[in-house]
Amino acid sequence: ERKFILAGNWKMNKTNTEAVEFVSKLVGQIKTEDKFEVIVCPPFTALEKVRDITSSSNIKVGAQNVYYEDKGAYTGEISVNILKDIGVEYVILGHSERRHIFQESDELINKKLKKVISSGLTPILCVGEQLEEREKGLTFNVVERQIKEAFYGLTEEEAKTIIIAYEPVWAIGTGKVATPNQAQEVHKFIRDLLKDIFNEEFAKKTTILYGGSIKPNNYLGLFGKPDIDGGLVGGASLTEDFVELADIMK
Ligand code: 13P
Repeated sequence: ERKFILAGNWKMNKTNTEAVEFVSKLVGQIKTEDKFEVIVCPPFTALEKVRDITSSSNIKVGAQNVYYEDKGAYTGEISVNILKDIGVEYVILGHSERRHIFQESDELINKKLKKVISSGLTPILCVGEQLEEREKGLTFNVVERQIKEAFYGLTEEEAKTIIIAYEPVWAIGTGKVATPNQAQEVHKFIRDLLKDIFNEEFAKKTTILYGGSIKPNNYLGLFGKPDIDGGLVGGASLTEDFVELADIMK
């Protein structure tokens, strides 16, 4: 009853020329058949072109970030209306690279989340612990704090559009994928937490993706776990691997 999703986070990769070539191929190769949704998240500059190419398919388009103000003197930022105007439907928020390289705080992520929800875009909220935190046994504490602070002040009605992505920082771009059991344990923890914050129905209906070194050869084990509803993929979303990942979800 909840949505299964395969989302590709391209990060700072692909020129427009490369994006057009790649997505034109994807459109012919990926058939989602309503069983699951496929989302691609290119750099801001390629969003419009990618939207044009995918509009004839059921591949959806997401941005990798957004600012929470509507307009004005915010050099270098992009608003929800700028995204909506070109047909973007999803926005990744709180990615660990935003949190750690660009110092985004839980408070900032909460403001962005509220803005995205009220605009009608669908947020993909990323959470996850760093290696040091896992080694100190703080994984659940960190994930709980990130989720509670992101959800702060949101009603159940507002929060139900949120897609969560659990991305352990030590697994991102490292080739060290979490084992299916390690990921499932945290996904279950997150679902239980959502039950505490709202209720069981809410928890059951929330899509929780795993992210971190997903490849075609490790995806089936992860996706086979009861609380893992798909993937947020970095490196493998830039190549033919992405088509293979979509095939696995059929
Ligand atoms: P990798 O798949 O490259 O590890 O990246 C995961 C990620 O950060 C997706 O948002």
